[in-house]
Amino acid sequence: MANSTQPFAVYADTELPLPPKPPGMTRFVCMSDTHNHIRYNFEIPDGDVFIHAGDLTRTGTLSDCQRTLTWLKDLPHRTKLVIAGNHDLTFDTAHYEKTWDQWHRNKEDHERIKTLYRQANEYGVVYLEDEEYTLPAEDGGWRCWGSPWQPEFCDWGFNLPRGPELAAKWAQIPAHTDILITHGPPWSHLARTMNDTDVGCEDLLHRVRQVRPRAHVFGHIHEGYGYEFGTAADGTEGTLFVNASTCTLTYKPLNPPVVFDLPLP
Ligand code: 5GP
Ligand code: MN
Ligand code: MN
Ligand code: MN
Repeated sequence: MANSTQPFAVYADTELPLPPKPPGMTRFVCMSDTHNHIRYNFEIPDGDVFIHAGDLTRTGTLSDCQRTLTWLKDLPHRTKLVIAGNHDLTFDTAHYEKTWDQWHRNKEDHERIKTLYRQANEYGVVYLEDEEYTLPAEDGGWRCWGSPWQPEFCDWGFNLPRGPELAAKWAQIPAHTDILITHGPPWSHLARTMNDTDVGCEDLLHRVRQVRPRAHVFGHIHEGYGYEFGTAADGTEGTLFVNASTCTLTYKPLNPPVVFDLPLP
């Protein structure tokens, strides 16, 4: 999709160091789909807000979730917005209760996992599951919404059939949302698999057109790593789409964070 002119700076797949953040901006540093990896052959740039768009782990065991949480806590960013993805099975409580024995020999203590993530709030970690979070005033006071759901694929966590059930999740996204974080991409934006099939969610795109967030950050389709600006023709003008998938299709953590500087309101 052709990009309209860039209203603000975005950096992806770039050599560090980045230019310093200009005054009057909030710097967002986005990663996704790290799948248990916590060491990288790139630097994670400092910034005001870190975003992780899900697939923190391979199957969401307590030990993997703890290891990833320790990494998140140690990041320098004041606020770290985190959602789960389909691989973070233990975060999808109802699904895990029903299907845990398909994934794990012993049932993981999923309540403890979520408690640990919620308690990490004191380290700036903000876990969002169909929830809103307003950034501090010094970080623009941007209104953020995070949601882990995606169109069903192989009975993973937070799967829902395309259509009314997913649309109901997207209907919860407040109309005033500035920064939208979902695990999966919307239809037609950085949503193509290796076979060139677009597997983005149509209902999510429909809601993005209504809400027009300043940025929509996601991952899940690792091959779609990158960014693009929405267009008037598509009804998404004014929205920056970021596929922040850190891992490649073969689960190697090679894609550097996508960074953008949003002018303060
Ligand atoms: P993950 O298993 O980490 O959620 O996704 C890894 C890869 O699986 C993606 O990069 C993509 O190639 C594939 N994948 C994930 N979800 C879907 C889907 O809904 N449809 C198709 N065709 N492939 C998917
Ligand atoms: Mn993934
Ligand atoms: Mn708005
Ligand atoms: Mn995924």
